[in-house]
Amino acid sequence: MGLVNTDAIVLRTYNLAEADRIAVCLTRSAGLVRAVARGARRMKSRFGAALEPFTLIRMAFYEKENRELVSISNAEILKSHFDLAAQLEASEVLAYMGELVSEFAPPHEANEKLFRMVVACVEALETSPGSTRLVSRYFEVWLLRLAGLFPDVRSCAECGRQLGESDPACLDVEVSPHCQKCSRGPATRLLPETQRTVMATQRLPPVDFAVTFKELSEQSEAQLAELTHRLIVRALERRPRTLVASPR
Ligand SMILES: [Zn+2]
Repeated sequence: MGLVNTDAIVLRTYNLAEADRIAVCLTRSAGLVRAVARGARRMKSRFGAALEPFTLIRMAFYEKENRELVSISNAEILKSHFDLAAQLEASEVLAYMGELVSEFAPPHEANEKLFRMVVACVEALETSPGSTRLVSRYFEVWLLRLAGLFPDVRSCAECGRQLGESDPACLDVEVSPHCQKCSRGPATRLLPETQRTVMATQRLPPVDFAVTFKELSEQSEAQLAELTHRLIVRALERRPRTLVASPR
């Protein structure tokens, strides 16, 4: 307990009392934290613009035992994303990412991979305008994978046979991947392109993923979205509030 110094990304903020603000942050060393910024809404706040959503900050906060809220003592901007937040489509994706990370990340539990993934996805949105849908799918696949909820489509869950574009995974109702021989009962067979796309998320960072699959077919994108959304709704037991069903 005591003072913690860590990098963090601000997911969302809300007002508290008259002059304070609460920032929900994903931190590198302490996981998800809800942090009070005292006086953050005053004209001359020492926090300045550091607590704008999706700003990457270096923050210091005091942690107290048995207290869910921490208290921010300092926050400095490492990288701001004000331009991104001003674009409608990108800001919708950011809000969506913020909601899902707040739901999926257990409080106060560091997860370096999750932190790096979220930061990389925000960077990808910034560097590849027009990639919002691909970055969203990438983000969903990884969020689910890190939570242990995404099927490993590289091999058949029954016989262990390697799956790939020539033998894409058949996903049963439990979303367990099978080769075509082992598949029984109602199953969704991934399109070869969807199989390739899912496998690529494992080796490519989001910015490269967005470039590589720029021409991804509508069918494969829809199949992937259907899969990730089904898994997300199942995990949350509800539809995410910020999920936008945008026409292509
Ligand atoms: Zn099999």
